[in-house]
Amino acid sequence: MADALSQAAALLREARHATVFTGAGISVESGIPPFRGPGGLWSRVDPAFIAIDHFLAQPEESWRRIREIFYDSFGQARPNAAHSGIAALEAAGRVKAVITQNIDNLHQEAGSREVIEFHGNSRWLLCLECGKREAALPERLAQLPPRCGCGGLLKPDFIFFGEGIPEQALNRSYREASSADLFLVVGSSGEVQPACQIPLLAKNRGAKLIEINLHESNFTPIADVFLQGPATKVITELVKELGLQ
Ligand code: NAD
Repeated sequence: MADALSQAAALLREARHATVFTGAGISVESGIPPFRGPGGLWSRVDPAFIAIDHFLAQPEESWRRIREIFYDSFGQARPNAAHSGIAALEAAGRVKAVITQNIDNLHQEAGSREVIEFHGNSRWLLCLECGKREAALPERLAQLPPRCGCGGLLKPDFIFFGEGIPEQALNRSYREASSADLFLVVGSSGEVQPACQIPLLAKNRGAKLIEINLHESNFTPIADVFLQGPATKVITELVKELGLQ
């Protein structure tokens, strides 16, 4: 691990353009469970409530679950040392952007500035009638389903099953994949499409890949350096190794 850590630090020092790519694993130590796998959300809750057709047909019923899980429960989560370590790497000029599959806003709260929200962000609501976005404030969520000032139905501004990736996020991610010479992948299984294609694309174009994960993933076979362990511990060590803490 010590060797792998110094190799990873050297790659980050040498990189001209490093991009971070994160999945649910980075927020596990903030108290947000992953969706799939043992202990994952889908092992105890049927994901149908965030399928777009179901939501449109039964918004009040869907919203009851959405509010309980994504706002009352996950809404309490705070950024951890992995989120703040990544923000420190960006502030020091070692990282250009973070592409996150997460919808929890924790990178932004930790101070990351260039955040590409591949799957959207639960802290915002989108009116399906007039297209206005507004903050997901408790007063708006007091009545279900929440409605916009125009009377339209409000939906959390993250993508539901059956919806496409926001075009701007997709385009920005492709740009990162073509300009980066280093990808740092943290806490992602590499099983979620099309997000998992982004690091693969970067790798195919010649970027080096560092992976941080508790377990081996689909990215491990193509990683130049695999740092196995909890994201908070590994990123804290990496930031120290780079002399940034
Ligand atoms: P995923 O692809 O995001 O995989 C989670 C990965 O995290 C696994 O490979 C696991 O080994 C790893 N991991 C778990 N704990 C870790 C830790 N402490 N340190 C490092 N790695 C750790 O899988 P998913 O949960 O099925 O997610 C599906 C999609 O839903 C993804 O796009 C994901 O980002 C999103 N999601 C978002 C949130 C969130 O916003 N916090 C939560 C769950 C899922």
